[in-house]
Amino acid sequence: MNILKLLLPIFLMFLSLTSNAENNLLIKSGTVIDGVKNQPWIADIEIINGKINRIGLNLKSSVEKVIDARGSFVMPGLIDCHTHLNSIPGDYFRKSSIEDREKQFDQQLKAYLAAGVTTLLDAAAPKSLLPKLERRFKPNEIPRVKILAPFLTPKGGYFAGKHARGDAYKDLWEPVGSAEMIRKHFQNESLSKSTGVKVTFEEGFGPVSIWPTFRKELLEVIKEEAAKSNLPIFAHAISKSEYKKALKFKPYAFVHAGFNEEAPSDEILTEIQDSEAHIVTTLAVLKMALFMWDEEALNDPWLKRLVPKEQLKTARNKKIRAESIKEIVRSNAPRWVPSWVVTPFAGWFFNKSFIQKSLNKSMLTVKKMSEKEIPIVMGADAGNWPVWTTLFHGAGSVIEMETLQEAGVDNSEIIRAATSRAAKMLKIEREVGSIEIGKIADLILLEKNPLKNMSALRTLKYTIKSGIAKTPDEWIK
Ligand SMILES: [Zn+2]
Repeated sequence: MNILKLLLPIFLMFLSLTSNAENNLLIKSGTVIDGVKNQPWIADIEIINGKINRIGLNLKSSVEKVIDARGSFVMPGLIDCHTHLNSIPGDYFRKSSIEDREKQFDQQLKAYLAAGVTTLLDAAAPKSLLPKLERRFKPNEIPRVKILAPFLTPKGGYFAGKHARGDAYKDLWEPVGSAEMIRKHFQNESLSKSTGVKVTFEEGFGPVSIWPTFRKELLEVIKEEAAKSNLPIFAHAISKSEYKKALKFKPYAFVHAGFNEEAPSDEILTEIQDSEAHIVTTLAVLKMALFMWDEEALNDPWLKRLVPKEQLKTARNKKIRAESIKEIVRSNAPRWVPSWVVTPFAGWFFNKSFIQKSLNKSMLTVKKMSEKEIPIVMGADAGNWPVWTTLFHGAGSVIEMETLQEAGVDNSEIIRAATSRAAKMLKIEREVGSIEIGKIADLILLEKNPLKNMSALRTLKYTIKSGIAKTPDEWIK
């Protein structure tokens, strides 16, 4: 009996090395961009049981499944640190059945893998999200999903109203009015799976502040409870004054780069740098909002392969575009202004050129942050709010990285922001985010070189999730 016990682990090890398990794989002679260093090199990567087992030249391996990666580029799977999985672009304007919605929900999750994204952070996860994912999928059918919870916003504040929450955020955390309520939120058992607490400092996206923010006493309670639960604080702040308020509480990260209206001064950049906070870039929100006017972007075959047809149809509809703009402007106007005053003129101040100008400011902000060596992290904010019709899941992550390049951020820095640094921010850097022995084999294989041009991400041949390699079409089918 004892001898059997002794031999069992050896037998299992033997089995794993010789068998052709689904997650054993040899990638031959790929150009490796490891997610950390600037310089690529050529190597074989042996994957056993979903983990990187060996990296080297001319590896002798018994693994039968081999990918010839000569001339191709191998890098870590992308990590998108700002998404809203439950929000389906344009859903607000469609009369979808529950089945249709679930179908799109499933499809957009798979679109992430088909775009090369193997890990996600849902930045305002409704309580039902993780149980729903567990019910519907096996772990390797979809990306690894991390969440921010609880989501804390003051009563009557940003994203507190029923209308804002709609169907997508129906069971998001209840807005907070008291210290007791904060303590109650922190006692929820689902927090064991949380990566951090999201705290809003949002006063209003327009020129006037329309939402109350947390009083100092309540912020102190949040800080105390977050520390007790060992959860870092992720701040939602966009403008200079919101950033200033948030910085006082030493957040671990900001979920948006912001500053779409005025580029940050050197003084505040230094303050952000000193705080050591990570900044999630989210340029794709504005970049993809421009697709409402861009038929060509919507007809792109790469995009069409990733985005559900219903969503593209809604995105092309000019009547819905006008409705979407009205709704966005209305929800950002002070409550004392009646909607019949605001909505007829919505297109006057919220239009293509306004969004382009905001994007230009935001791109300049991110470039300055990167030059200042503030740790930027990739996140597209896909989904955001279902009133937006073009904030597509999956494609958004690639568009985020392309927009970072357009902003002038160095390509190897963009890759770090979407791999090793993102993993570090999520505190999963021991598992994923770089190509190293012992890490989970979440990798992508590209035909072209992303160090030369980020559009190389559109030449994705395989996404490898825990050692399982599939083509984009195979993932999304
Ligand atoms: Zn968001």
